[in-house]
Amino acid sequence: NTPHSDAFVFFGATGDLAYKKIFPALQAMIRRNDFNVPIIGVARSGWTLDQLREHARNSLEQHGGVDETAFAKLAAQLQYVDGDYQDAATFEQLKLALNGATHPLHYLAIHPGMFETVVQALANSGCTQNARVIVEKPFGRDLVTAHELNRSLRSAFPEESIFRIDHYLGKEAIMNILYFRFANSFLEPIWNRNHIDSVQITLSEDFGVKERGAFYETTGCLRDVIQNHLFQIIALLAMEPPAYRGYSAVHIQKTEVFRAMCALKPDDLVRGQYIGYREEQGVAADSDVETFCALRLFIDSWRWAGVPWYLRSGKFMRESVAEVLIQLKPPPSKLFADSQPTDGRANYLRFWLSPNSAIALAARVKREGKEFVGDQHELYLGGERIIRQESETPYERLLSDAMAGNNALFAREDAVEAAWAVIDPVLSSHSPVHLYQPYSWGPKEADTLIAPNGSWHNPSPGRMGA
Ligand code: NAP
Repeated sequence: NTPHSDAFVFFGATGDLAYKKIFPALQAMIRRNDFNVPIIGVARSGWTLDQLREHARNSLEQHGGVDETAFAKLAAQLQYVDGDYQDAATFEQLKLALNGATHPLHYLAIHPGMFETVVQALANSGCTQNARVIVEKPFGRDLVTAHELNRSLRSAFPEESIFRIDHYLGKEAIMNILYFRFANSFLEPIWNRNHIDSVQITLSEDFGVKERGAFYETTGCLRDVIQNHLFQIIALLAMEPPAYRGYSAVHIQKTEVFRAMCALKPDDLVRGQYIGYREEQGVAADSDVETFCALRLFIDSWRWAGVPWYLRSGKFMRESVAEVLIQLKPPPSKLFADSQPTDGRANYLRFWLSPNSAIALAARVKREGKEFVGDQHELYLGGERIIRQESETPYERLLSDAMAGNNALFAREDAVEAAWAVIDPVLSSHSPVHLYQPYSWGPKEADTLIAPNGSWHNPSPGRMGA
């Protein structure tokens, strides 16, 4: 019986995220007849409504194309309130623009430093009643600031009305981890420390910070992707089965994973920086911000104690890919001369998350002939159904869920804080940043980190069997 939001208030409508992702998502939702509410942009550019419409058109031209029918509707739904977020008059104007909407959704696509100002101004102007709010990542810079942010949000909205958006959670391949784990029975008996040797996750991009150097200087890889995207993937892989049907059960189990994680120690982390980063626009000439991280972590639970989780992420790496590799233990005795391949990976399960999506199970199969020798094969689960292009982008999916009041795919307050508690001890550790070549797999120190359990699997986006 949750009411649908009846207005979309778009703070940051003139910003970069709006331009790259949100206008395209809005047009797509309008095309599907899934977004028939006023869209009220709020920023301080001094623009007219027509200028904002023109800006939206430019955004669509550059990101997927203009659908004239849908765009005409988008332009008609769009309104614009021009004013500074620090000025109470802006929110008085907003109130007028809301024109009696009873369940507005406020989307904060703005710098996190502005969250508190906007939330308090919304509360003071009476715009929070029965309203919802979407907050963009990062959800704080560390445990203390995450706690502060949550306190500020909670002073104006109940937790069920707060939608912390991590677009990763709206990806089809990520949702499939949850489905695949709990829609099948064969995994559960082996999904533990008795059978799993280690887990590795790679999330890499083959480009640098582009024009976002100044932003990246205040963030770094640990904060930008590890604490949120990669931790969310771990939570889905490591969680206990939800005790009942319903998303609150999933939230509970995911939070428990973060709570069971051992706090990171400096030895668990390798930081890297691509050569040339310090020459990027907005970057300090002596910057020691990491553009690459590799880390090892442990989950001290009955299921996972002693199993190392190796995570790696970076900018300007060899390929743009995201992959999880669940390495199973080798057979207990070596009956055949070749039963242990040179890379040590006889049996594993591989979740290929991006750019395409599929799941592969690796096993050795005998080669025809007298000899007991075999080859490594990957059995594709999903077969030809490898997803190349999702029909709905994560932002479409998540904005539509937030409008409907469904918080299943959003991060919850306690989970965010528990995840920060794991990372916090190494955030201020000034361990060295190791330089690496652009288009490489990062510094060699990352190989040393994983060496006790083998080596990194360097995926290729072109072929599943790489
Ligand atoms: P941005 O380009 O700097 O845009 C900021 C927006 O806020 C602009 O619309 C700006 O309006 C408005 N604004 C700032 N201060 C204001 C004030 N005092 N009064 C009124 N308006 C004000 O930021 P962004 O890159 O879009 O990022 C927005 C959020 O999304 C951040 O939380 C970021 O972490 C998150 N995010 C961004 C990306 C991305 O690719 N950009 C990806 C993931 C998450 P004017 O233009 O009128 O000044």
